[in-house]
Amino acid sequence: MTQIHKDIKRVFVDEASIIARSKELGKQISEDYDREGKNPLLVAVLKGSIPFMAELMKHITIDVEMDFMAVSSYEGTRSIGDVKILKDLDRSIKGLDILLVEDIVDTGRTIDQVVQLLMNKGAREVKIVSLLDKPSRRVLEMNADYIGFTIEDAFVVGFGLDFNEKYRNLPYIGVLKDELYQ
Ligand code: 5GP
Repeated sequence: MTQIHKDIKRVFVDEASIIARSKELGKQISEDYDREGKNPLLVAVLKGSIPFMAELMKHITIDVEMDFMAVSSYEGTRSIGDVKILKDLDRSIKGLDILLVEDIVDTGRTIDQVVQLLMNKGAREVKIVSLLDKPSRRVLEMNADYIGFTIEDAFVVGFGLDFNEKYRNLPYIGVLKDELYQ
């Protein structure tokens, strides 16, 4: 049995469920791209998407390549596409089909900006797979093509997701005890 971290109040999604769902998503993604004769470049945005990228790609059976980027929003601006690249992709993505691997879609601002960035770089197509979806928090009409789990409006940590850079290593998704936020 997985030992639950002392700071965790409740486990939202356990490790076995994340692996089982990643298998299903990997199968579906493989079938969909195979049908269209496409081989996507998997792009993960650092750092939260790393554990999900690692789990998901094991279950994709078509040939894929992977790349990583890190972005941050410019201070004090919310304008679409205005995102600072902290670490750029290693290669040109001109004409490529991108599958953007995300940890969570919350307001939708991050994927909106990253998709725009990838299209500006000349991608042919950008699809999104997100481990978690919080539709109740959405401010932009942005939705992932593939979703692991839809969750209620709560701040979650684990499986890549952090609170002040901590808890990314937990193998499950959980909610922190209330006193941790004080
Ligand atoms: P959005 O731009 O969709 O509002 O937010 C996406 C980003 O915000 C995620 O990639 C993640 O870094 C962060 N985020 C949103 N909701 C949560 C959450 O519940 N927990 C954690 N740890 N990060 C979150």
